[in-house]
Amino acid sequence: MIIQIDKNIDLNKQVEIVDKLTNKGFKITPVKTQKGNYLIGTGKGKIDLRTIGNMEGILDIHKVSDDYKLVSKKWKVGATAIDLGDGISISGGGGFAMMAGPCSIETEEQIIKTINHLKENDIQIMRGGVYKPRSSPYAFRGLGIDGLKLWYDLAKEAGIKIITEVMQVSQIEEMYDYVDVYQVGARNTQNFNLLDELGKVDKPVMIKRGISGTIDELLYSAEYVFSAGNENIILCERGIRTYERASRNTLDLNAIPILKEKTHLPVVADPSHGIGIRQHVDTMALASIMAGADGVIYETHETPEKAYSDGQQTLDFSESEQLIKKMRKTVALRDELAVGKL
Ligand code: PEP
Ligand code: MN
Repeated sequence: MIIQIDKNIDLNKQVEIVDKLTNKGFKITPVKTQKGNYLIGTGKGKIDLRTIGNMEGILDIHKVSDDYKLVSKKWKVGATAIDLGDGISISGGGGFAMMAGPCSIETEEQIIKTINHLKENDIQIMRGGVYKPRSSPYAFRGLGIDGLKLWYDLAKEAGIKIITEVMQVSQIEEMYDYVDVYQVGARNTQNFNLLDELGKVDKPVMIKRGISGTIDELLYSAEYVFSAGNENIILCERGIRTYERASRNTLDLNAIPILKEKTHLPVVADPSHGIGIRQHVDTMALASIMAGADGVIYETHETPEKAYSDGQQTLDFSESEQLIKKMRKTVALRDELAVGKL
């Protein structure tokens, strides 16, 4: 159960509501986000909602049978749209967001070339890692905060928004002024301390699905961020580890319509990490669109073979341009067919 309560509710009135529900067998957790105040009821309690419906301070009551609550579609009418400012948004209900850029931010020249490529193709959100989670400690691990600052100056001047991975709690604050969307990587999806802390910031968070994570676990991760205060969350299907070895990961296209049915949050796909094979990234991007994705995030680099990381799954700029054109056509076709409209 989710009870939306008045932000200025008298504390005594809140205690009265909580007592009533506790007596009926609910465990009540108060949640205060940047947008609203809620009481989350869990457990096996039963109550006739009419008996509390008009208690002072209650704005609305919703029965939510899912184990996760605030990210569930069962209570929130309409999809969530994440506003990045300057007319740029990532919405769970219409429109399509394209995010592209290198796996790693490498040099000033590389940043400028990527920004020019994005601008030429009307793409407004650039991805790139400055803190890189690498399987081997000897691999390139990113330029760190100095790389982010350099990128930020160039991106801001060009009107480009930045999405980049935050790997640990201590980085949240130092990155704050230079990011538009914090990315939580697949290896950190269940880093609950990180999720809690990202709940306290007023910038959007994109959470990638864990390498071996279930769909429900991804939703729980989002519930952490939401219940810690931040409602601006995007979910990303980036492929899971299966027994299959012919591709780097298995992009779980099933997850897209299933997530869209379960949550009001926007759902995007990452076909680069999802399949890990350059020549098949475009196919999987288009398939993700038809599966109902609200956006796609993929890797591009002027010379993928020279990229510091993930070159094998990175499109060059001409492949990227082709993909952008095909994605626009596919989104138009999807809209015409109304595929994935729930
Ligand atoms: C990335 O986006 O470059 C990345 C490391 O992704 P993931 O966390 O999905 O592996
Ligand atoms: Mn990568």
